[in-house]
Amino acid sequence: MKNNKQFHHSKKLGQNFLRDYSVVEAIVAGSGIDRETLVLEIGPGEGVLTEELAAAAGAVLAVELDDRLIPVLRRRFQYRSNVEIIHGDILKTDIPRLLQEAQERYRLSTVRIVGNLPYYITTPIIMKLLESDIQAASITAMMQKEVADRLIAEPGTKHAGAITYAVQYRCAVVRICEVGRECFYPVPKVDSTVLRLDLLEEPPVQLSDEEAFFSCIKAGFSQRRKTLLNALSAMPGADRASVEAGLRAAGIDPVRRAESLSMEEFARVSEHLGRSIE
Ligand code: SAM
Repeated sequence: MKNNKQFHHSKKLGQNFLRDYSVVEAIVAGSGIDRETLVLEIGPGEGVLTEELAAAAGAVLAVELDDRLIPVLRRRFQYRSNVEIIHGDILKTDIPRLLQEAQERYRLSTVRIVGNLPYYITTPIIMKLLESDIQAASITAMMQKEVADRLIAEPGTKHAGAITYAVQYRCAVVRICEVGRECFYPVPKVDSTVLRLDLLEEPPVQLSDEEAFFSCIKAGFSQRRKTLLNALSAMPGADRASVEAGLRAAGIDPVRRAESLSMEEFARVSEHLGRSIE
């Protein structure tokens, strides 16, 4: 928007707009897009990133929730035939359908997702993308630094959380750049990081029951200061003696904590405990 002073940025919608052009360039360069790529941009704001994405990609679908920004974006991109502004909530959008229809319309073979995400819903957005049936090659996202540190942490170290396993089961995580708070207007209270999540063709561990795997991880991290035996036994329907037997059968000392387990060790735990943990 030309006159920034007249636009009242909504805190509720996470509106911290990028004003450092070198960061825009780093995101576009790091996202791996080319003319064969259909880009889904989440939260275009005033369109600063959209502009450069449109110059590099085959087409861009930009989903923005704030109705005040829709006319601004439509005006800005009125002469760009490869940009579509979609008014909606990304968490309520049927993303697989949106992408499939656009891929057919533009005849583009690769889909990549890019966004300077609204921080209040970073995790729900990433989990929605990973759990929906989309054929995207990557998700390049700006997020709060602390969230990025969790996503990129090595499973089995103290920086890992349940989301580390959920993301790294499906993606290889690449750090693109660190972004100081002064690169935004208004200046937020936190620093940021841009990560690219490259979707894997094969998961790093083979599972017979994905749901049981994620239930064990969720249960283990729901009380991360407790031992695995205590955390898993506290779940509804769990029986302490069977949890202990399951952990021992998986070769895991029951006094270990969730954050010390590798992806492969959690896979073994879930194979032995099965659905006894909700
Ligand atoms: N891409 C712009 C930039 O880099 O300057 C804006 C980024 S700002 C951090 C996040 C944007 O996401 C805002 O424009 C906000 O209105 C939008 N947004 C917030 N919640 C949303 C949702 N549920 N669905 C789609 N967009 C949303």
